[in-house]
Amino acid sequence: MLRFYNTLSRKIEDFKPIDPAKVGIYTCGPTVYREVHIGNLRTYLASDILRRALVYNGYRVIHVKNITDVGHMRATEDHHHVQIDPIIEEALKSGKTPQQIAERFTKIYLEDEKKINILPATINPKASEHIKEMIAIISILIKKGFAYETDGTVYFDVKKFKNYGLLSGNTLDKMDNLFKAVRISFETDKKDSIDFALWKKAEPDRLMKWDSPWGAGFPGWHIECSAMSIKYLGDKFDIHTGGEDLVFPHHEDEIAQSEAAAGQKFVNYWVHGGYLLIEGEKMSRSKRNVYTISEIEKKGFEALSFRYLAMTVHYKAKMNFTWDGLDAAQTALNNLRNIVSDWDKPKIGCAEYEEKFLEAVNDDLNMPKALAVVWDLVKSDYPTSAKAESLFKFDKVLGLDLENIKKTKKTEEKIPDEVLELVKEREKLRRKKRFHLSDQIRHKIKKLGFDIEDKKDGSTEIKKI
Ligand code: AMP
Ligand code: ZN
Repeated sequence: MLRFYNTLSRKIEDFKPIDPAKVGIYTCGPTVYREVHIGNLRTYLASDILRRALVYNGYRVIHVKNITDVGHMRATEDHHHVQIDPIIEEALKSGKTPQQIAERFTKIYLEDEKKINILPATINPKASEHIKEMIAIISILIKKGFAYETDGTVYFDVKKFKNYGLLSGNTLDKMDNLFKAVRISFETDKKDSIDFALWKKAEPDRLMKWDSPWGAGFPGWHIECSAMSIKYLGDKFDIHTGGEDLVFPHHEDEIAQSEAAAGQKFVNYWVHGGYLLIEGEKMSRSKRNVYTISEIEKKGFEALSFRYLAMTVHYKAKMNFTWDGLDAAQTALNNLRNIVSDWDKPKIGCAEYEEKFLEAVNDDLNMPKALAVVWDLVKSDYPTSAKAESLFKFDKVLGLDLENIKKTKKTEEKIPDEVLELVKEREKLRRKKRFHLSDQIRHKIKKLGFDIEDKKDGSTEIKKI
């Protein structure tokens, strides 16, 4: 049984889907005004492993991962809340339209994900294409008395939602004190400083804005994710994921507005990945300590080495990034490939290791333990055909593309000219049915370290012994 940590209950729980035939996952995707960094990708990798683990356990998964192409401010990173939309800012700087910026970085983001074998989402909805759905939810919230409009901006009335804070622990009784500590001086039109914006009035020269019942404006960041998740997964769905910094306020606010609008529980399981750190600090654009996949590649590493590295640390633990660590991950990956490339074709697998692997994966996605099982299997005395069968099965979760590597390595193996000449000669002799002589040549080829297999279709395969 697959078990993982649920931020909502603060416990490791058995996973019980709403509908076993169709598990829904929503992952908060990137804001596309820059390349994503490997900290972001660590979080997306955690979601990818979770998704693969679900499929490994026999579930069908619908994975929705949005593209935030309408800018938002991160209250957690930027307490003074200057209203600059990063996508617009980037557009102004580079003389492009916000749409061009968003398109460019969406493309790079999807390519980066592909490079580290993150399975493509079932759907990547764009925030800018779901404004209608956001306006619909906001209208319901106003009608139900959970939201109010002041001069073109709509706020969620947090104190009306009694269950506020169950996810993050920032319950209503604590919120007042919290906000006294970080007094936010602007947005003076709010009834209460703890209220958050669902819809914001556009400043007159704003580039990205939409008509709404409250005038021209743009959505708050939290409502984007509520609208897109509900549209594709329903009012109530199984799993919502993101990095640990999204717990508050983003996910807490998503819960408040979604549950207030639908009048029922929003999400059963909340899964949050730990930070990627660099020299003990969170990797983050604002700290200018980020690395991207293209930077990793420029230093001569494969993007996939980062996937391996990420799996050496439990997804909830903080992980310190170092180049030495990446180097070790690349070496381990190379070693694994070299070993696998000499293995026989997969046959019946090793039940003993398959059980251990599944146990590790199902134990809150313990990939460090799962990798240890991989290496135990590799070093075991089982026939290589059995190891191959099991390892390629494991790779459905690992995502290291091991089966592919085996094929390409085999076909790309350099065969000396001398051997090729002998093979040609043997072919001629065989056509003349001079099998005794052709067998002698086969013997010579063997002495050079190669063997040949005559295929049914008449071709010959040359293999290194
Ligand atoms: P953002 O584009 O800032 O909304 O971030 C996209 C995703 O990356 C979110 O799920 C964040 O929680 C996550 N994230 C941002 N920085 C890091 C980091 N240093 N380590 C792990 N995850 C991160
Ligand atoms: Zn989100």
